[in-house]
Amino acid sequence: MRNRLAWASILSLLASDAAAQRPSAAADAGRVARAVSQHAIRAHLEFLADDALEGRRPGTRGGELAAKYIAAQFERLGLEPAGDSGTYYHHVPIITLTPNPVVKITAPESDELSYRRDYVLWSMRNDSVTTARGDLVFVGYGIVAPEYHWDDYQGLDVKNKIVVALVNDPGLRDSTIFRGPILTYYGRWTYKIEEAQRQGAAGILLVHTPESATYPWTTVQSSWTGPQVRVEEPAKSLLVAGWLQRDAAAKLFALGRQDLTRLMDQAARPGFKAVPLGVGIEATVRSAISRSATSNVLGRLPGSGALAHDAVLIGGHYDHFGIGAPVAGDSIYNGAEDNASGTAAVLAAAEAFVRSGVRTGRSIIFIGFTAEESGLLGSQALVSRPVTPLSGIAAILNLDVMNLYGSTTDISAVGLDQSSLAGVFRRSAAAEGLAVTSNRDALLKGFFFRSDHFPFARAGVPGLSLESGLSFVGKPADYCL
Ligand SMILES: [Zn+2]
Repeated sequence: MRNRLAWASILSLLASDAAAQRPSAAADAGRVARAVSQHAIRAHLEFLADDALEGRRPGTRGGELAAKYIAAQFERLGLEPAGDSGTYYHHVPIITLTPNPVVKITAPESDELSYRRDYVLWSMRNDSVTTARGDLVFVGYGIVAPEYHWDDYQGLDVKNKIVVALVNDPGLRDSTIFRGPILTYYGRWTYKIEEAQRQGAAGILLVHTPESATYPWTTVQSSWTGPQVRVEEPAKSLLVAGWLQRDAAAKLFALGRQDLTRLMDQAARPGFKAVPLGVGIEATVRSAISRSATSNVLGRLPGSGALAHDAVLIGGHYDHFGIGAPVAGDSIYNGAEDNASGTAAVLAAAEAFVRSGVRTGRSIIFIGFTAEESGLLGSQALVSRPVTPLSGIAAILNLDVMNLYGSTTDISAVGLDQSSLAGVFRRSAAAEGLAVTSNRDALLKGFFFRSDHFPFARAGVPGLSLESGLSFVGKPADYCL
């Protein structure tokens, strides 16, 4: 109960205009928190996680039902439609490509690489056949980070080249640079692809090691050899992207008389310069293509006063994995925790704001995000094609996996190290008598980059993602989720 009040109160304070300065803000927050209905949370969660919704996979009947349920709740509460053309729905076009790639080494002539064992590769285009030819250039970590005085592409023209990059960032090797062991976004594979796009490369191959990726090659194999789902957007420079298994990368480097281990060491040092590998490849990907559509769901509670045109977003993804391989004879992946719980919390928060009568200065847009599990596709689509200007969005609060395990004496959020929202969060938590725990594991593993607040943060909108506390009332210290 205490935590239920705490998160609602914190949401309310964060959504309020100048929470710290306005004396009535705390009282308003209390009113919103008291208006949260435990029964409503349970009812939303039980409905969304029911077998009838078949795991809420985007583009399926169950996914559609979840979206319609959220829209119906927004309508019932009298929220304004904040999606496309006066509806609650924001359209997200999805393209799914199942790759069948072949990579040939063109110079010097040598054996082909073996798909799955040595590499995985997929098309970055919306076409059924994509071919990229070019010389390989090792760009180290493939990072351009002015604030760390780092530019792996300095003086380099990678047009018609296929860049080879390490994942993670140089702080992995040297704790005095970047943020040391704390993963920055420059370390994520998504960033490497984005930077290679900006540089105009024809392709990118990421070198996998278990340490730098934090997962084994088998994870790369299983993640990238099946259907690849993404938002259908106009093509950019990259034709293909993929991963190289470490030993296969070492062999390729050796063909050009280069030593992978030595270059990996060099890449972690300031002043590293990209190295042409003297190896050319031709990569062709045939893709089986299918298209579908899904929707984010958005409802707006108007603010009052001068800031009403601005907005705070409170969202959580409603999608889960649908129907898959049976576990103990059950093939429906219900996703009660991830993330019927967060969706239920968004709906309950919307209801609490409406019932309390509290009106914040800024408008609040409540969101059910789609296709988070497919790679933050719903939130990415909303940033690419926003329903309200991004410059008018003060903050986003993301609810992805709520605490279903009992009261805690603390609370946490991912992103506390990323923006000035941390101060408001700490004050709000203190007002509820909760300590703020910083989750080091989340920092090391880069959780900030892995849910729906992140596409907004990348576009300049401060964001937090609420996390459960760790000190459970009346439980032993090692009680964990
Ligand atoms: Zn989730």
